[in-house]
Amino acid sequence: LGPARGARDEARVGLYLHVPFCARRCAYCDFATGTLSAAGVERYLAAIEREAERRAPGADGVAFSSVFFGGGTPSALAGRHFTRLWKTVRDHFRVAPDAEVTLEANPETVRSSLLECWARAGVNRLSFGAQSFDAGELARLGRIHGPERPAEAFALARAQGFRRLSLDLMFGFPGHGMDSWRRTLDRALSLEPEHLSAYCFIPEPDTPLGAATLAGREAVLDPEAQADLYAELVARTGAAGLAGYETSNFARPGGECRHHLVYWLRRDYLALGPSAHGLWNGERYADHRGLGAWALALERGLPCDESEAVTREGAADETVMLALRLGTGLAASDHPRPAWRALMGRYGEALARGVAERRLVATTEGFRIAARHRFVADDVIAWLMAAAESHAASRSHEVRGAVPLAAAAAAG
Ligand code: SF4
Repeated sequence: LGPARGARDEARVGLYLHVPFCARRCAYCDFATGTLSAAGVERYLAAIEREAERRAPGADGVAFSSVFFGGGTPSALAGRHFTRLWKTVRDHFRVAPDAEVTLEANPETVRSSLLECWARAGVNRLSFGAQSFDAGELARLGRIHGPERPAEAFALARAQGFRRLSLDLMFGFPGHGMDSWRRTLDRALSLEPEHLSAYCFIPEPDTPLGAATLAGREAVLDPEAQADLYAELVARTGAAGLAGYETSNFARPGGECRHHLVYWLRRDYLALGPSAHGLWNGERYADHRGLGAWALALERGLPCDESEAVTREGAADETVMLALRLGTGLAASDHPRPAWRALMGRYGEALARGVAERRLVATTEGFRIAARHRFVADDVIAWLMAAAESHAASRSHEVRGAVPLAAAAAAG
């Protein structure tokens, strides 16, 4: 299990840029994205420059260890537009010389000229959304590419010299089954990606496939069937040399996504663009979701986000929730000492109970979720939160009970 020590240490501070355009919306997707248009791109590029100007002073002296262009479909931008976006980054922020720079790409949009442009800019990692290698499933999911396209995109990227490639897959959607999942996994792993992400389908109510599923017009896979698909994923990726370093993410040694490790280790990341969420100097913020609302705020000099300071307890909760998704779990050496102490104060008893009940495993450095519970990691984390709350409530009850005695002693 990972992530390796080196990868965790290299994941220091991230910069995220949201690119809110897609050729067409997929049937399951509720991300903040819209159709690509010349006017939309122009407005976006001008507004993101304004946001960079606004946020740059707060990041003065920071060398970002990762930059991530996510979306939407960043690869939908023309080369000249991506170059302008990259210039905005370089003009306002310091990117560490060894930084991981990732760009999310739809396989359909990948061309040699674009790959050249990305490589010239310094992009050194590409993440391709494949989802499935079955033509019928791709059509049902509303993807714009066919099953052959990811292999073609991989070959072009390898020829261009890209050494860190990732694939995104989806499982457990209506109509999905073990046979097609095995075929998809075989095809995906035959491309020898350094990294693979696989997410279980979630029916989002505002999407055609999600709404149909929730209304019962599409057959939902039961949780046992989804768990079987997940077990197959873990077995096949493991056999291919990719370790499950996070619940939904698998990598060869050294292939872990540095940028996502920043999130899971709850380190600072600055985020720009519509719907982007950041964590900066102990404050969480969310940019306005729609391109129009976000750009308008920046054009008028108004706040483009909503922010909220995170309390010490809130930070401990987030740390536990995020780190327990990692293969290495919650490890003392990943967190500053005061944060670790606060965390143990709040969660120590609940974590020990989790080990006693075999939901968690004690490690040399902390705690991780037992392998057989990883598919239901969110349930284990919810249980842990509830257990910590009940321990805290009983502690405060004991303290409250002690006050009158202490007061009585003082009075006496
Ligand atoms: S390409 Fe990605 S971001 Fe765009 S609609 Fe499809 S799933 Fe959503």
